[in-house]
Amino acid sequence: MSNDIEFISSEDESAFYCLQYFGADTREMPDKRKDRLLVDDVHIFEAWFLDGTAIQLWVHPDFLNTFAATLAAQKLTGPLGHLPWFMRERLDHVVVHKGDETAFAEDRGRFFVVYDGNMDKRISTHDLEETVFHESVHATMDVPIAHSAEWRKAQAADKGFVTTYGASFPEREDLAETALFAFAYFQHPDRLPDQLRSDLETLAPNRLAFLEQFFGPTQPIKRNLDGLEDCTH
Ligand SMILES: [Zn+2]
Repeated sequence: MSNDIEFISSEDESAFYCLQYFGADTREMPDKRKDRLLVDDVHIFEAWFLDGTAIQLWVHPDFLNTFAATLAAQKLTGPLGHLPWFMRERLDHVVVHKGDETAFAEDRGRFFVVYDGNMDKRISTHDLEETVFHESVHATMDVPIAHSAEWRKAQAADKGFVTTYGASFPEREDLAETALFAFAYFQHPDRLPDQLRSDLETLAPNRLAFLEQFFGPTQPIKRNLDGLEDCTH
């Protein structure tokens, strides 16, 4: 997914509250480059948000000290704070590796995997927010929506696909691709050019209507709570 539209801005109000370090432990760290799953001495963080949600960030020990691991974890806290709260609530954790592979998600495991060098690239092109959103849709909505009768019916009734990536992989990628457009369409309509808004209405009215129950203007995208405890441990 790449174009010039800023669907989500790093300047948007983030629900991020604080980041806690929990020390080192053994975790499953899926990696495109290796088969080995279990890794010792993973840096464990927990990111807390103003709505009471919390997401663990598991940073690989290739980051040799807590400071380096913290810098990598901090790249994710803003973008995670821009997700709708229901996605944060369902997202279990994020795996962070060194390297420059593209991100991927495990839908059933409710997590996604990012590579630090690739995060840097996407920060420089203002795309990390959108990547985190896309992977979070995989991790929190693909199961059970992508294969549901209701979603498939909406797909079949629509005229076309919102992106070529979604068109190439209608079962695997169309929900994540369309969800980002639907989120911007309902939450930040001014960020989409008029022509794109009307193209969406022509191409994908049924999928927009389906996604309105999650991203619509009257949905509880934000749910701030008062009285969070101090983030010291
Ligand atoms: Zn995807």
